[in-house]
Amino acid sequence: ENGLPQNLIPPPLPQPCKISEIKHTKIFINNEWHSSLKGKTFPTFNPATGVKICEIEEADKADVDKAVDAAKAAGKRGSTWRRMDVSSRGRLLHKLADLLERDRCLLATMETMDTGKPFLQSFFVDLDGSIKTLRYYAGWADKIHGKTMPVDDNFMCFTKHEPVGVCGAIIPWNFPLLMFMWKIAPALCCGNTVVIKPAEQTPLTALYTGALIKEAGFPPGVVNIVPGFGPTAGAAIAGHMGIDKVAFTGSTEVGQLIKEAAAKSNLKRVTLELGGKNPCIVFADADLPLAVQEAQKGAFYNQGQCCTAASRVFVEECVYDEFVRLSIASAKQITAGDPMDPCTSHGPQVHHPSQFDMILELVESGKREGARLECGGYALQDKALFIQPAVFSDVIDHMRLAKEEVFGPVQCIMKFKNQEEVIERANSTHYGLAAAVFTRSVERAMRVSSALEAGTVWVNCYNALHAQAPFGGYKMSGNGRELGEYALAEYSEVKAITIKLNDQLTV
Ligand code: NAD
Repeated sequence: ENGLPQNLIPPPLPQPCKISEIKHTKIFINNEWHSSLKGKTFPTFNPATGVKICEIEEADKADVDKAVDAAKAAGKRGSTWRRMDVSSRGRLLHKLADLLERDRCLLATMETMDTGKPFLQSFFVDLDGSIKTLRYYAGWADKIHGKTMPVDDNFMCFTKHEPVGVCGAIIPWNFPLLMFMWKIAPALCCGNTVVIKPAEQTPLTALYTGALIKEAGFPPGVVNIVPGFGPTAGAAIAGHMGIDKVAFTGSTEVGQLIKEAAAKSNLKRVTLELGGKNPCIVFADADLPLAVQEAQKGAFYNQGQCCTAASRVFVEECVYDEFVRLSIASAKQITAGDPMDPCTSHGPQVHHPSQFDMILELVESGKREGARLECGGYALQDKALFIQPAVFSDVIDHMRLAKEEVFGPVQCIMKFKNQEEVIERANSTHYGLAAAVFTRSVERAMRVSSALEAGTVWVNCYNALHAQAPFGGYKMSGNGRELGEYALAEYSEVKAITIKLNDQLTV
């Protein structure tokens, strides 16, 4: 009922905590809490009620400068952080994971309060993912090493992997804590320092984590958190001369701005995780109930606010009618409700009114362009930012619904005739983040997954993400990879050291 596999939930169900006051609302620099230099604040809202939760100190360019100075000092040659044993670095990451485990209920409650995502999903999925990401990279801290190379003539040549320096990070509002960990964990395990900006809609768990970072024992300035807006604090990070690398997750449009600002400032390294228009292909030989369930999970999980959302479901024509019938029946069972109730599987959209209007506008465009709205797709009048999950059938490739990222609970079902055709259609997008294939044939699974232009392909499953596996996009879905061993390269400089040997030492 709560949208999670039952084997994930040992009884009794965890319950949200009572949070009477939000303690951490300031800018976190050098392990201390700072007021905004301009004296500005901004509100954050609970999207399930529309009620303001609290005011947050707003970081602007001058605050980002201060954070960068702190991060630079913390990472300079001879600093505590640079001299720290690699195994101690790993221990600090484990310690932070321990503190997340200790405060799991509070963090999950805060995440639900700020984003509207159902409490059990915050508790199990977001917190589990965050903790596992920290532990995974804690394990890498003392395993990052170079190679020795045989070279011509009488030299000894080897490589060392060194930190890049100050890493900027700009993160979105759909998975605030998880995205925070995806950015800081690989950066820290490679010995970098960090200046990170949470999304203005959802700053709470990032700021609370600041207190945990201090408690864990990270030296001052190793992680600095600058809550604020994109065009001010975010742009200051992207264009900063003192930041050596920036990692961004969010819209493709802003990703382009970030790459431009990086190029025009100091050519800082850039990794981008951007949008998707992800194809989910269901062949006639698939386990149909499984495909229906997973495709719908892909479309509606986190209220559809996922860059990996299954937003184009292609179904082979001989099972199309049955797939649509089962999908409608399944969607109709979803009732949006209070996200703090552990039985709720569908909460409100994040408090981002223009985003909310955009989802409803795309639903209208689908109706206007001739797709068939089978159910849902309307705002629930009596509640703040709730949308009843929508199923569209007969969606055609040229419609806006089939081309634009909806980022809301809207499933678009399309019909196909054969394998070659569906591969062509699936790939005909500027995006290339994720894709899924449902089939019982191993050979077909191999052929189709090889042909799809996407950084991740799931076979007979959806949204199966792991800290160990790389994640990132082809084409306009991004640059570089997060997670797994691959992410380490994004956070390390490689230095080749060549030593001239005394000729007499040659054997
Ligand atoms: P956005 O890209 O504007 O926001 C993401 C982050 O970027 C936030 O922290 C924001 O403050 C920051 N930002 C915004 N403008 C900036 C700038 N000029 N310079 C530096 N940083 C900047 O996303 P949004 O407007 O909140 O949502 C719009 C669309 O983005 C959504 O509909 C969805 O398609 C996409 N999106 C994708 C993801 C993802 O996980 N890939 C997450 C959120 C939104």
